[in-house]
Amino acid sequence: MTWRTRSNLAWLRGLPAVREDEPLASRTSFGIGGPAEFFLEMSRAEAIEKVLEGAKERDVPYLLLGAGTNLLVADRGVEGLVLRVVSREHEVDGTRVKAAAGLKMMRLARIAADANLRGFEWAIGVPGTVGGAVYQDAGCWGKEIREVLVEVEGYLPGGGKKTWKPSELQLGYRTSALREGPLRGALVVSATIRLERGDGELAKEVMARLTSERNETQPIKTKNCGSVFKNPPGDSAGRLVQAAGLKGAREGKAVISPLHGNFIVNEGGATAVDVRHLIDRVIAEVKRRSGIVLEPEVEMVGRWK
Ligand SMILES: Cc1cc2nc3c(=O)[nH]c(=O)nc-3n(C[C@H](O)[C@H](O)[C@H](O)COP(=O)(O)OP(=O)(O)OC[C@H]3O[C@@H](n4cnc5c(N)ncnc54)[C@H](O)[C@@H]3O)c2cc1C
Repeated sequence: MTWRTRSNLAWLRGLPAVREDEPLASRTSFGIGGPAEFFLEMSRAEAIEKVLEGAKERDVPYLLLGAGTNLLVADRGVEGLVLRVVSREHEVDGTRVKAAAGLKMMRLARIAADANLRGFEWAIGVPGTVGGAVYQDAGCWGKEIREVLVEVEGYLPGGGKKTWKPSELQLGYRTSALREGPLRGALVVSATIRLERGDGELAKEVMARLTSERNETQPIKTKNCGSVFKNPPGDSAGRLVQAAGLKGAREGKAVISPLHGNFIVNEGGATAVDVRHLIDRVIAEVKRRSGIVLEPEVEMVGRWK
């Protein structure tokens, strides 16, 4: 049975500031994908929770959106409601920092350095939000958010407000109970991290060095989604793609970066199907050459069928 009943559509259309057929491409770092059937941008946790509860009760499908830096949105867009979380508050209390889900990780890295806290410099490499980072244990340069996470406030539609300890979130390399386990569909409201006291100026120097290293080795300034594939145990997806001779391979306007094999770049006008074909080609060719089956890190959302 479809969720698209008259009363559900009336409920969606009655949500304050809701927009219909709202383009999503410009809200993703890939710059690809069709519209959201219904779209809301919200910052207040209670208001977001009320909408999610309403959607759950009515079986209206919804997608939470952060900065859109790990998503491939289908060309036909996303069914139901897309709710973009834009909360940005933060609070420093000694060595703890509590950050709202919509705050960018890069911004949080600078906030920590300004407060003379160390241990979060790596987050300068993650362009997504705190909510998106918890969702799949984002990390780089060998560090991951779970290493500094103290607790996460959240909301489980149908289950109410929650405070999760990191162990309850089943965080692991680009996975969690939110992405693949019993907490699918739950909202991250805020995350509290614990860092170490240190020299903030040194932290800023480290971040500047990491950023310039990245700019040289990855196509950061292009339209992309970061790493397309997870690194298989003991190896690197970029190395495997390169070894398969696929750097520079293309489908339409989507091309595997000649700079880094684990990046697909939208040269302008690439479709989600172009990217998907390229992903499928990489998986097949890497498997043929090495026997390793690469798993996408990018999440494909929306109407693919
Ligand atoms: C140039 C570039 C470099 C990158 N480098 C890295 C890197 O070094 N390491 C790394 O880990 N990632 C990296 N990424 C990927 C990306 O930044 C991370 O995966 C990030 O955590 C995604 O956050 P987001 O806010 O963009 O989430 P989105 O892409 O908007 O969403 C991703 C998923 O998170 C969910 N989500 C978002 N907010 C919430 C919330 N509040 N509650 C519950 N679920 C939520 C969404 O529903 C969706 O399923 C990179 C991306 C780019 C473009």
